[in-house]
Amino acid sequence: MIEQEMDFENRIVSPEYNYTEDEAELSLRPKSLNEYIGQDKVKENLSIYIKAALGRHESLDHVLLYGPPGLGKTTLSGIIAKEMGVNLRVTSGPAIEKQGDLVAILTSLNEGDVLFIDEIHRLSRNVEEILYPAMEDFSLDIILGKGPSARSIRLDVPHFTLVGATTRSGQLTAPLRDRFGVLLRLELYSPEDLAKIITRSAGILGIEIERDGALEIASRSRGTPRIANRLLKRVRDIAQVEFDGDITEKVARAALARFEIDELGLDDFDRKMLSTIITNYQGGPVGLDTLAAAVGEESVTIEDVYEPYLMQIGFLTRTARGRCVTALAYDHLGIPRSGQSTAQQSIF
Ligand code: ADP
Repeated sequence: MIEQEMDFENRIVSPEYNYTEDEAELSLRPKSLNEYIGQDKVKENLSIYIKAALGRHESLDHVLLYGPPGLGKTTLSGIIAKEMGVNLRVTSGPAIEKQGDLVAILTSLNEGDVLFIDEIHRLSRNVEEILYPAMEDFSLDIILGKGPSARSIRLDVPHFTLVGATTRSGQLTAPLRDRFGVLLRLELYSPEDLAKIITRSAGILGIEIERDGALEIASRSRGTPRIANRLLKRVRDIAQVEFDGDITEKVARAALARFEIDELGLDDFDRKMLSTIITNYQGGPVGLDTLAAAVGEESVTIEDVYEPYLMQIGFLTRTARGRCVTALAYDHLGIPRSGQSTAQQSIF
């Protein structure tokens, strides 16, 4: 069993928003579909729906965006509003505590506006119930008063577009999911697309970067633009202080080695999780909750934040009986397929 405490909050390769690291995000957000790099299928579908809605002078159908954090869901909601020529209102599931909060938001919208609800799966049930008639008929059923004198009134709200974001569509209740006309799944990005995103961000931030330097950072960014932008800024600091400022392949390699992010973008936590499965559970299968307890992290975080990339690179599989580590992961960690090795101890 590994005793070492890990600092999850400050993990450089976490795809989740971190105010200190990511406060420049606003300036890096693409503002139009053309500027939005990668996700070709999503862009193609969206641009057809947007054109059709504009042609009919109607609001866009409600859109559900799902995929791991940091892939550009918030960015897309801004682009949808911009392309539709309407205002964007941003909130999140946990921020809407009472029915009244949502009623206040909905009644203050203008015709056609986009309402973005991040982490929409975290809306409480009674808030969700307000949303059903609002999404379907653009009306609200409000109960005034209590007891026998209570009466229900129907209130119209403007035709708005709800853009909901969640890490997994399966987390949504069926009645809510069924009310979205457009369901779009965002995929992890290829290193080539991430290199384009890094080069674009470098241009905005005034950072000199060579193509190979961008590719080096891209291949360690776990398919996630948020991580790519964050690593770019961290590498820039090292480039300035220890080199002549430009980010070349060599500079990127040296900087990333300093952050203990390996050539596949794995950090200590990934290595700990994989080697725990190998050491404690003979490579798996091990149930998600058991694994979460063994590595000291929440099951949902493992599932939404860590696993997608490890599965994408073929290091981890999900089976009906639990998680299994693949031969590729053994090789990467330098652990022989049978039994323990001395390499295993040296990982930490
Ligand atoms: P999410 O809402 O899915 O967590 P965001 O929309 O906040 O992700 O994106 C995180 C950051 O990554 C943004 O600031 C943006 O700069 C960048 N980004 C995301 N997707 C793209 C893309 N397709 N092209 C360029 N930059 C992107």
